[in-house]
Amino acid sequence: MGLVGFRCPKGSKTEGTNNRNADACFNQCDRQCLAEPLLHAIWSSNAGYKPSFDPTEAVTITRLVGCHTQHGLSRLVDYFDTPKNLYYSIRGKIFHRLMEDYQNGILERGLDPSDFRIEERWGPRMLGDVPIGGRIDLHINSANTRYSWKTIGDKGLEYLKDGPKQDHVLQENFYSWLNPEVKTSRIVIVYMSMMETVETGGLFTVTKYQKSQPKDISENHPALKQWNQNGYKWTLIYQIPDCPVFKPALLEKTIGGIYPQAKLLWRIQNGRIDLRTAPESSELTNLAYDPGSIGEKNEGWRCRDYCPEEIKNKCKLYHPENQHNVPENQQNEL
Ligand code: SF4
Ligand code: SF4
Repeated sequence: MGLVGFRCPKGSKTEGTNNRNADACFNQCDRQCLAEPLLHAIWSSNAGYKPSFDPTEAVTITRLVGCHTQHGLSRLVDYFDTPKNLYYSIRGKIFHRLMEDYQNGILERGLDPSDFRIEERWGPRMLGDVPIGGRIDLHINSANTRYSWKTIGDKGLEYLKDGPKQDHVLQENFYSWLNPEVKTSRIVIVYMSMMETVETGGLFTVTKYQKSQPKDISENHPALKQWNQNGYKWTLIYQIPDCPVFKPALLEKTIGGIYPQAKLLWRIQNGRIDLRTAPESSELTNLAYDPGSIGEKNEGWRCRDYCPEEIKNKCKLYHPENQHNVPENQQNEL
């Protein structure tokens, strides 16, 4: 069960065809949907189609802040996905390369490498009887600061004016819970789109080409400054709010609130829920359909952009109230 192959994307000549082996993409396809080096990287990182959960590992923070239904159902159903949707599976490799270069730079500058915790695994730490673990991007001890890198679509950058995404805030704070020995007084989330990079606490520029003064697009965090050039070009400068750092009591309360979901994911991961009878199992209806259980409403983008059809169809059985087909113009683009 889990990912079993590639699906040809909408608009392609072979739209909707399911391919279980790489031969279809490399030797039989006359119009590949991605450049071959990317296709190759995506095939190889998904080679063997490992189950989505490794039963020997702790429940990861990434899964805790993602869609729990998606993680649970990905164990239950066979599914295909388009190479483009699976692009995320190689983003980690690209980032890893960046960190390798950074590590070399640290040595060349004569800095103490032990000050830099790069891609460290933290945990497992027990949440009740559930082991929780995760891997950070970077923590600099002497600055008590943690950095996290996220990729984002260009259109999503504007939404950062009101602050980082809720699941990213939770994710980073949960890392602090995993490793309380390490002091964290600042968290910086760096969002990288194809065109630019924007970070929490940093400045962000929006340019609008229109004659009339643009409406301030942020209610809570109005532009710091705006001006007009040539009568039709408006520039607005925003400050992205800092990523909140939870106080210990709030952190304990928030992670404690997620325990029932963590326990359920842990049981699925360990095969303790009989997946053959799971479609009828009421237990799975208890899976949150996104981090809604810890305070965020379903914004629809995850369902629309990142959920394979087979999982989405099953999800409708468990969460008919969910907005699986929210029109694009009503969705948050993040
Ligand atoms: S490369 Fe893309 S379009 Fe071609 S067979 Fe593979 S999935 Fe389909
Ligand atoms: S359709 Fe949405 S809510 Fe349902 S499993 Fe997929 S991402 Fe989660």
